[in-house]
Amino acid sequence: MSGKIQMKNPIAELDGDEMTRILWDAVKEKLLKPFIDLNVEYYDLGLKVRDDSDDRITYEAAAAIKRLGVGVKCATITANAARMTEYQLKQLTPSPNGIIRAELDGTVFRKPILVKNIQGTVTCWEKPIILGRHAYGDVYKNCEMQVSDPGKAELVFTAADGSETRKTIMEMKGPGILQGIHNTDKSIESFARSCFLYGLSEGVDVWFATKDTISKTYDGRFKDIFQQVFDAEFKTRFEEKGVTYFYTLIDDAVARVMRSKGGYLWACKNYDGDVMSDMVASASGSLAMMTSVLVSPDGIYEYEAAHGTVQRHYYRYLKGEKTSTNPVALIFAWTGALSKRAELDGTPELGGFAEKLEKQTLAVIEDGYMTGDLAGIASPPAKQVLDSWQFIDTIAERLA
Ligand code: NAP
Ligand code: MG
Repeated sequence: MSGKIQMKNPIAELDGDEMTRILWDAVKEKLLKPFIDLNVEYYDLGLKVRDDSDDRITYEAAAAIKRLGVGVKCATITANAARMTEYQLKQLTPSPNGIIRAELDGTVFRKPILVKNIQGTVTCWEKPIILGRHAYGDVYKNCEMQVSDPGKAELVFTAADGSETRKTIMEMKGPGILQGIHNTDKSIESFARSCFLYGLSEGVDVWFATKDTISKTYDGRFKDIFQQVFDAEFKTRFEEKGVTYFYTLIDDAVARVMRSKGGYLWACKNYDGDVMSDMVASASGSLAMMTSVLVSPDGIYEYEAAHGTVQRHYYRYLKGEKTSTNPVALIFAWTGALSKRAELDGTPELGGFAEKLEKQTLAVIEDGYMTGDLAGIASPPAKQVLDSWQFIDTIAERLA
């Protein structure tokens, strides 16, 4: 259709569940379709469809993201016992995010969306801190044991040829606890690559930290692999982009983060990422203002909101209430995907639209018009609390 922005290549679109599915459609109808000839490959990842297809649809969607290079995903229900009954499921389908992450061998990065009138709790953070968590191994795939008698604890590796390497962990004098953990060079390399790629893509410095002074072999391996991947594949590209890679000890990193202005990507080992992502998220105000990007080591991107399907709002919506659910992270999932598509295809008009949509969304909030979750924490206070549809309409008016 003439007048609308054209897309050279499609995006894989993954629809989802509950309140986010309702808002997903509203965002497309009001904020995207009037301005763009949306070119998508659509996959319905609604719970019932996933269950009916024995999750085939989820694997097809993951394959489409890999093929097209860019995906955008609505929040989806991860099935549990209650959902089995509610949706009359055949089986407990696994988390779609888990499946897609494994298929893409990717890393998830969370990035807060900042607005001037929502003051974060850490006042020196002027720019977003993007946090990437290595979601494989360490204590999350551990083997542990409680012992009640004295004895020798050993670490034993039996090679494929049967030869053994042994090290004494501890001569236990009495009761205690033991733990074995692992990681793989391959997984650490993929993680490093995803972090450097996303840092480049966002044009920000990359920080990484471990405790390699204490854990010389285990954490030392993380440090070495990051440096090797950086030197071999990213050093020149980082220089060209004017960004840096910075390695330090984890305690030093935490101290620096707390007094920084933000504006970098913080790559974390699995446990550090688990803990620090909650710290960064809670300091940033609202879960509804957080995006999440899955980045594969070969440069494939899937964008989504960090929050879930907002189940409680959905039940109120089903009873006829116009809920004041915040669609900002869903909007930013779309703008992230459209910007990436534009960058890969060399279509600046599309990229310009994505940028404009982000700016107008933030401007509406900064002008005092927002959903209920933000009204509770805004300073100066909100001029008007809008329901989701009024909020989306207000953005649409400014785009027109
Ligand atoms: P949730 O959907 O993130 O919602 C938890 C609470 O956070 C809501 O009840 C609401 O608080 C607030 N909230 C979250 N997003 C909001 C928004 N956009 N606007 C306003 N308030 C928002 O988490 P959940 O209720 O624990 O999970 C619901 C379902 O989502 C589950 O089935 C879970 O499996 C799924 N989930 C999916 C993903 C994903 O696909 N990436 C991620 C997490 C969870 P109030 O009710 O107090 O207003
Ligand atoms: Mg956590």
